[in-house]
Amino acid sequence: MTRLSAITPSGHAHIGNHLGAVRRWACEGRPGDLYFVSDLHAMTVSYNPARLRALSRELLAVLVAAGIDADQVFVQSDLVRELGALSWVLECACSFGEAARMTQFKQKSDSQGMVRLGLLTYPVLMAADILLSGADEVPVGEDQTQHVELARSLARRFNTTYGEVFTVPTAVTPPTAARVMDLSDPGRKMSKSTQDAAGTVFVLDDPDLIRRKIRRAVTDGEARLEYRPDEQPGLANLLEILAACLGKSPREAAAAYRSYGEVKNAAAEAVIEELRPIRTRAMDLLRDPAELDRVRAHGAARATERGAHRLAAALRLSGVG
Ligand code: ATP
Ligand code: MG
Repeated sequence: MTRLSAITPSGHAHIGNHLGAVRRWACEGRPGDLYFVSDLHAMTVSYNPARLRALSRELLAVLVAAGIDADQVFVQSDLVRELGALSWVLECACSFGEAARMTQFKQKSDSQGMVRLGLLTYPVLMAADILLSGADEVPVGEDQTQHVELARSLARRFNTTYGEVFTVPTAVTPPTAARVMDLSDPGRKMSKSTQDAAGTVFVLDDPDLIRRKIRRAVTDGEARLEYRPDEQPGLANLLEILAACLGKSPREAAAAYRSYGEVKNAAAEAVIEELRPIRTRAMDLLRDPAELDRVRAHGAARATERGAHRLAAALRLSGVG
């Protein structure tokens, strides 16, 4: 069983990424699983190259600092030759209609000035990520299940047309993890790519900034101190964050406090303690570029090694290479 998960360097990692994804990868992951920083995916919309490079290093440091084994992490572009080659093979097994049908493409292309061809073809690159790794399970949210379906179709089509090479992956929906909402707007998911950072607690924020952001979190008009997500989404979000950090349920967390102020203070301190060791280790790595380069090169070599035979077989059976 191999699982593959990724995080895109579209911004700094936040507490939602940590509680909803990275923390689980570090503690529930199995030795064969792979985690990567999907920097090539960040190029499908307008971006700044220097920022992309810095964010990719930062996310790699955060993944390793969170406790993911160095054998299991890599930066996607370190495999750009392998992934580029496999993407081409898969593009030639994918119909235009299949790619154009992707809901995410339709949604994202509506909001872009120049629609990059890469935005259309990136689900094929994602198929290459999955099929090169040999992953059989891909944990994804709703928005990505269609892309995993495409990877399944391409794997099956290649296997039946040219010969058995690829494991046919399955999309798995992770058991409902904490879905952390924006502190300034609890109706919106906390996101790396949000422009306004006031409602986003980043993994590398210092403790004082975390306290300030949580103290300013939007709460609700009502004074009831209960976990009622529909009626009091601002308070519910704080209780969920607090509960996830303490390993309790939000209802248990609510019962321990008498005022919003107390909940905010407790949530701030719990988040600070949850993130402290990760922030410390990540900052150490970022201050030691040679060590981070070593970790990065090691992960890239492992991931390349794991996929090499699949790429070689796919090229050979395609009649090229
Ligand atoms: P972007 O705004 O670029 O989409 P993002 O913050 O949504 O960034 P992703 O790279 O899309 O982050 O997702 C990385 C992982 O973090 C995924 O497993 C995703 O489910 C999880 N995740 C993202 N946002 C949250 C959140 N607010 N709460 C819980 N989990 C989250
Ligand atoms: Mg996202």
